[in-house]
Amino acid sequence: MNKFIPLSVPNLKGNELKYVTDAIQKEWVSTGGMYINMFEEKLAEYVGSSCAVACQSGTAGLHLVLLEAGVTAADEVIVPALTFIAAVNPVRYVGASPVFMDCDDTLCMDMDKLQKFIDTSCEMKQGNLYNKTTNKRIKAVIVVHVFGNLADMNKLVLIGKKYNLVIIEDATEALGTYYVGNGKKIFAGTIGDFGVFSFNGNKIITTGGGGMIVGKSGLDHIKYLSTQAKDDELYYTHDEIGYNYRMTNVQAGIGLAQLEQLETFIKTKQNNYELYKQLFEHTKIKLQSFRDDIRPNYWFYSLQLENQNISDTIKQLEANNIQTRPIWGLICDQKPYKQFQTFEVEKARQYQQSIINIPCSSNLTGEDVKYVAKKVGEIYE
Ligand SMILES: *Cc1c(COP(=O)(O)O)cnc(C)c1O
Repeated sequence: MNKFIPLSVPNLKGNELKYVTDAIQKEWVSTGGMYINMFEEKLAEYVGSSCAVACQSGTAGLHLVLLEAGVTAADEVIVPALTFIAAVNPVRYVGASPVFMDCDDTLCMDMDKLQKFIDTSCEMKQGNLYNKTTNKRIKAVIVVHVFGNLADMNKLVLIGKKYNLVIIEDATEALGTYYVGNGKKIFAGTIGDFGVFSFNGNKIITTGGGGMIVGKSGLDHIKYLSTQAKDDELYYTHDEIGYNYRMTNVQAGIGLAQLEQLETFIKTKQNNYELYKQLFEHTKIKLQSFRDDIRPNYWFYSLQLENQNISDTIKQLEANNIQTRPIWGLICDQKPYKQFQTFEVEKARQYQQSIINIPCSSNLTGEDVKYVAKKVGEIYE
């Protein structure tokens, strides 16, 4: 029996223990300390953003960004149907309503369909976009860069400008993904008005749990909201409702060490992706590709298995000690979201039934990749 090959697990062989030990020895383990500032600075520098604010999770980051964008309970936010639910739940935290969009072949939001939705179902009134079906103002779009790919941000940024929509990039899966524009690397998360990253255990770098917000404008108010909206450190006055969302120094120590290794992780993931691609080349099995005009971070690999029973495949691979999983259930099909509007969700439904994710950890070896490809091949012979 082959050793167990997990889907996506952390890789903590750099300076993690050193920085965490230092934080503990100095007894700075809570929401203050130098590692938080260093992690924020280094991440902002890496993605080319003027500032960054560390928080407890990607979900918390998205919640703060929606508050900062002024999204209220009277508003609607356009979201993808095919994504992890954490991209959508914060819309409900602020009481707003989601409107679900379809994906295109990148698995990210289909911008042409978004335009079609605007053209056929919305109207501009006093500088704001209104949904003619619900009569609500559409205030923002949350776009998700699925599995490390990049959504069509050129189109989305133009749509945002034209219809006065705040563009929020859920870049939780795409830290390190970039394209080159005017000779400059433009990173996922820095193209819209706000970008959010996650450092959950399965992401490309981890802090155990954690997140980071980057943005075009200053993020001081977001930081203020994340630390209980404290106006006076001594007398504890508060002019707003705040949140306890700040990252801890221990987590940031792990994050800083992880960030030092990010490009190495991406290189390994790229090599493993290329190897899978080569091994599946002359088979019926289709490895989902990334856009070819970007440098993806190669976070997750997906196979498209048409006309197959995916749950059988997953079970058979599990019997061979290989962990895989189907893509997410569509958010618009989940109980808390069934009542909200969807617009021509078709492709997302097809992909939902035909995709599985295969092992992709940054400590996966070439031998592991060959074993997985061989077993998948055996199932589909
Ligand atoms: C992981 C993930 C999140 C949430 O991140 P957490 O840090 O776990 O809260 C949000 N959106 C997407 C698309 C994700 O994959």
